[in-house]
Amino acid sequence: MVGQRVRTRFAPSPTGYLHVGGLRTALYNYLFAKKMHGEFIIRIEDTDQTRKVEGAQQNLVKSLEWAGIVADESPEKGGNFGPYVQSERLDIYARYCQQLLDDQHAYYCFASHEELEENRQLQIKQGLQPKYNRKWLPEEMGGSMPPSAIRKKLDEGGPYVIRMKVPDYVSVWFEDIIRGPVEFDSATIDDQVLMKSDGFPTYHFASVIDDHLMEFTHIIRGEEWLSSMPKHLLLYEFFGWEPPKVAHLPLLLNADRSKLSKRQGDVAVEDYIRKGYSSDAIINFVAMLGWNEGEGSQQEVYSMEQLIEKFSLERVGKAGAVFNIDKLNWLEKQYIKSRPTENLVAVIKPILLAELELKESLMPPEVITSDAYLANVIELMRERVGFEHEFVSFSSYFFFEPATYDEEAVKKRWMADTNALLREFTDILYSLEEFTADNIEVKLKEFVAPKGLKAAALIHPLRIVASGVSFGPSLYHMLEVLGKETVLRRILKGIEHIDVPS
Ligand code: GLU
Repeated sequence: MVGQRVRTRFAPSPTGYLHVGGLRTALYNYLFAKKMHGEFIIRIEDTDQTRKVEGAQQNLVKSLEWAGIVADESPEKGGNFGPYVQSERLDIYARYCQQLLDDQHAYYCFASHEELEENRQLQIKQGLQPKYNRKWLPEEMGGSMPPSAIRKKLDEGGPYVIRMKVPDYVSVWFEDIIRGPVEFDSATIDDQVLMKSDGFPTYHFASVIDDHLMEFTHIIRGEEWLSSMPKHLLLYEFFGWEPPKVAHLPLLLNADRSKLSKRQGDVAVEDYIRKGYSSDAIINFVAMLGWNEGEGSQQEVYSMEQLIEKFSLERVGKAGAVFNIDKLNWLEKQYIKSRPTENLVAVIKPILLAELELKESLMPPEVITSDAYLANVIELMRERVGFEHEFVSFSSYFFFEPATYDEEAVKKRWMADTNALLREFTDILYSLEEFTADNIEVKLKEFVAPKGLKAAALIHPLRIVASGVSFGPSLYHMLEVLGKETVLRRILKGIEHIDVPS
């Protein structure tokens, strides 16, 4: 392995959606590989045919692509180490399994489910850790089953599984990049099934064979796989292969420090996509779930390029990482604040065009979908929205007529003469040649002063008739962006619809 090019992999099972934990595993593998100028590979682990879900593989790939995690080799892309789907590699596993049988590292087991379950219950009752009782371990491997009995069963055609024989009285030791030295006693390791009765390998067997054949140098995966390590390492030893380096990532936790679960929030990446989170914020957020740059760094917002540059497995912590949605929302806001306007225009335009398919606007479509108009809206709203889509949904009045007027605000702001004041002010706005924020402000102040009124007497009603709501960006700028025609139309419509309180 010395001097070898770094190769890492993300090896999901196609059982549904991409979990945020899976995204983190994929991301760390990707960041590490790219930092080391190596390769990142996607391999699909579909050996459990009962859990396979139609379309899940495409879903996983789509979510990863959305996140900007691009594989160098994958089922879709191909590569020199394919096939990259385990169900297409059955002949390879069968060959290696035969080798283990020949070398007496594996044996046939004909025990039925009932028998295994009975044995398990008995061991639990006796206070023992449940393990296969080795009934079918052949005589020549130190067991008690005569070869003739095994032959007979094989001739009958099974069914059987193939198990590895865990050597007695050895201890398995390895160094985890994140956890340091880890040791297991072989007495605690079960004779793991390698080949199932349906002819498919188990995860453990297939992943070891593939990790070796695909020449991975580093295995980075979730903590839940740590306890599988001794079985995997024994397999490497049986074959005489050098195992890759390993790093087991900390658990993801809910705010109450329980294991991250659906019950306390969304765990599927596609849910976050649907809610409008940007891939930049999600990647930044997920990267920080277990990794930090180290003391002294105040940086919280990272681009993918910066993450690649700064990431290191040594700075991934052992302790569980709390999934804090407020942090994600904060990051999303940071991205919106700092994203170049033209970049946001490109994101928002299709959202608006889709809205315009469903809803008519009284404003000229070529104006409100123009880059210049959208850029104005973005500049007014970027501090106020939490998501990109909110430029359209949250401040829809920039594109569509207000359908209602905030009742509470009307009650609070409308005086007996408010409608009359608005009507009078319409004439002033009408004659305004340059409909700019500054000019509107000057005119408004000139208008209220001789009447002994405060500017607020008109500012609030104007905002309500123009937008339907009582909050938003600077009124004068908002009116300027909406344009004279729209503002005049909305004032007149407001006067018509809002009754003077009695
Ligand atoms: N297929 C396993 C999973 O779904 C992969 C575990 C590993 O990375 O070895 O997480």
